[in-house]
Amino acid sequence: MSEKQKRYMLPEDQIPRRWYNIQAEMPTKPMPPLNPATKEPLKAEDMFPIFAEELCRQEMNQSEAWIDIPEEVREKYKYYRTTPLVRAYGLEEALQTPAHIYFKNESVSPMGSHKLNSAIPQAYYCRREGVTHVTTETGAGQWGASLAYAASLFGLEAAVYQVKISYEQKPYRRSVMQTFGAHVTPSPSMSTRAGKDILTANPRHQGSLGTAISEAVELARTTPNCKYTLGSVLSHVALHQTVIGLEAEKQMALAGEYPDIVIACFGGGSNFGGLAFPFMRHNFTGERNTRFIAAEPASCPKLTKGEFRYDFGDEAGYTPLLPMYTLGHNFVPPNVHAGGLRYHGAGVIVSQLLKDGFMETVDIAQLESFDAGVLFARSEGIIPAPESCHAIAATVREAIKCKETGEEKVILFNLSGHGLIDMSAYDKYLSGDMVDY
Ligand SMILES: *Cc1c(COP(=O)(O)O)cnc(C)c1O
Repeated sequence: MSEKQKRYMLPEDQIPRRWYNIQAEMPTKPMPPLNPATKEPLKAEDMFPIFAEELCRQEMNQSEAWIDIPEEVREKYKYYRTTPLVRAYGLEEALQTPAHIYFKNESVSPMGSHKLNSAIPQAYYCRREGVTHVTTETGAGQWGASLAYAASLFGLEAAVYQVKISYEQKPYRRSVMQTFGAHVTPSPSMSTRAGKDILTANPRHQGSLGTAISEAVELARTTPNCKYTLGSVLSHVALHQTVIGLEAEKQMALAGEYPDIVIACFGGGSNFGGLAFPFMRHNFTGERNTRFIAAEPASCPKLTKGEFRYDFGDEAGYTPLLPMYTLGHNFVPPNVHAGGLRYHGAGVIVSQLLKDGFMETVDIAQLESFDAGVLFARSEGIIPAPESCHAIAATVREAIKCKETGEEKVILFNLSGHGLIDMSAYDKYLSGDMVDY
């Protein structure tokens, strides 16, 4: 392992005071979400029955580029922020590349991923508006764990619908949620109308994020003082995640560099947007010409192979219609280990940015992602989340191109989480049992 790994830290008072709302500065604004019944554009008020009101306003805010972070939220961010920016000398050496590779380490949060950056403000706004219960869906369990933790910080009860296959295969994430007092139900379940309908049609349904969202939304709609929360896809989630890129921009300046390429893995777009948007604002003005690459799994390729159109965010068709790149809301992705990337659609902001040519996409097969993850673990000493392995694999591809051309590019990627609760996936890889889909 390299001894030259270098960390760039910012003091606590440098935690951002405002989130960056890219919607206000996009050359083409995203098209509005539509009410599925009337096909009329949705207003913030239309979403009040489901989400905290302030989150609905943030979702639809296309005019203010900067949104104040409440002091109570910054206080909780202080538990783990600012997070380190690291120059990955070890990985550079292992690849023999002239590229300068940096990563933003979001794995240091108490729940081990970036998701807490949005769970904390979502729980905070619910609490401030008098909500007592929050509900959500979770796939691999990172979002559920983060929401359970954030709910406990603000004295809220959390009810989490976990995709059935993950509930069975990832028992430790369930234990984490339960440790923080959350109620966890495998989805599809018989506890909701949506779950009953799905199970009636297919009694052996393994569950998907879509089925779990349908159940959680139904619970929020039918329970007083209960709001639904979402860990990705929606614009307010990406907004909260911009603390990642805002810190990284300052830390890159400490290192005396600016990224030529910014890379993140892609599930619904929140960690990608969180890192990329603050840098992308300088592309809009023409001041910079950074490349942005979203790395998705080859088995769930909504960006590289999906279609741009209006689609539902969930299986049952409860959510508004969203203009996005999608594989279709009935798409059930294969059971890859990067559970957090198994979602059929992409957020509306990222979809518009991709359509307008502000970013690129790559798809990465499972084995290539773990090749890169193990190389990273051995060269940098951190076991990455299976999701993050996709960002690392895309970084490795770019670093190898630099080696071939001799270019000294600066590459920045997001380490969205660590993989210490995903060792069964590493076991499969190390024993040679892992397959590509
Ligand atoms: C959830 C998750 C992702 C994918 O979600 P995005 O919204 O696309 O960021 C990526 N990495 C980790 C570690 C996750 O938990």
